[in-house]
Amino acid sequence: MRMKTRLIHGGIDGDEHTGAVSVPIYQVSTYKQEAVGKHKGYEYSRTGNPTRHALETYMAELEGGARGLAFGSGMAALSTILSLCQKGDHLVVGHDVYGGTYRVITRVFTRLGLEATYVDTTDLEAVKEAIQPNTKLMILESPTNPLLAVTDIAAVASIAKENKVLLVVDNTFMTPYWQNPLDLGADIVFHSATKYLGGHSDVVAGVAITKDAELGEELHFYQNAIGGILGPQDSWLLLRGAKTLGIRMEEHERNTARLAEWLSEQPSISKVNYPGLPSHPGHELMKKQARGFGGMISFDVGSASRADEVLAKVKYFTLAESLGAVESLISIPARMTHASIPAERRAQLGITDGLIRISVGIEDVEDLIEDLEQALR
Ligand SMILES: *Cc1c(COP(=O)(O)O)cnc(C)c1O
Repeated sequence: MRMKTRLIHGGIDGDEHTGAVSVPIYQVSTYKQEAVGKHKGYEYSRTGNPTRHALETYMAELEGGARGLAFGSGMAALSTILSLCQKGDHLVVGHDVYGGTYRVITRVFTRLGLEATYVDTTDLEAVKEAIQPNTKLMILESPTNPLLAVTDIAAVASIAKENKVLLVVDNTFMTPYWQNPLDLGADIVFHSATKYLGGHSDVVAGVAITKDAELGEELHFYQNAIGGILGPQDSWLLLRGAKTLGIRMEEHERNTARLAEWLSEQPSISKVNYPGLPSHPGHELMKKQARGFGGMISFDVGSASRADEVLAKVKYFTLAESLGAVESLISIPARMTHASIPAERRAQLGITDGLIRISVGIEDVEDLIEDLEQALR
């Protein structure tokens, strides 16, 4: 089955009891048992719910894994993954991961006894050097936010395997439509499903998928024990949103490629970061490990005040955090998504005050270009 067909027919198709074409919303917390412990597979909805199960099965299939699990947010998915560790374990983490990932590790999990080393995962030697005898998990994003740095996932996976470390990839930016980290050797892939998977700025959710069933069972234990599950309504919204993931991703990318080209020609812009541009350092690697380049782009307008001017003048770009929805969103990473990262670290990473990030929507790209043109002028 090809990806676009899998998006429509993958997982659990409809409802066998009624013939309903879409999976029903099982708004239920508990299930009748005929005798103690004798039931139809469901006991209590924290442990399992048919609508969430349909979503989990579907997500596992899309990512090519054995087990999918759905959570109340991307951060709940990550926190449950981190619960696989115990006190004294060490993490190797990409140095420019999502701000919330950095925050939950540095402010919560290190307090509970985990250690973490932050590395540039595009540098394989640095990754090797960061591994310690007590390293349990490696966590990375590719491409990263907002500079779109690309890591060789298969190469990092083989380093992880050699050292008996589990590789966890945050695939939020690419989605399973463009990239499947489990096929490249990762052990767990997770998403903020709030972004492209949902796609309509109407649900906060997370999913995690494991390559093998045993690790999936272990993660399900923590999902049930901790309880950060996704409810049936939101599970259904995600099932609905993901049906159109293929056509949305194609359109996001077409618009972004056109915008990247246009921005590159503007004299007032010093740098355009988009892995689809042949000049981007990760371009060839992306062609090797992904089927597309995604819909995220960032560029430098020179200063914070100029960035503010652009933001004040655009009409079709909504000033907001988040990404991956049908509408174009614009933000200033240094003062929004990455504000929790100390200024010194931001400077090291290259997240300048004039850097603007756009999550390109699926509006008509000519309107988007005209709008940016008047705002830059
Ligand atoms: C938004 C985001 C997260 C966090 O997900 P939530 O659903 O907001 O909890 C994690 N990683 C990336 C790359 C994100 O963009």
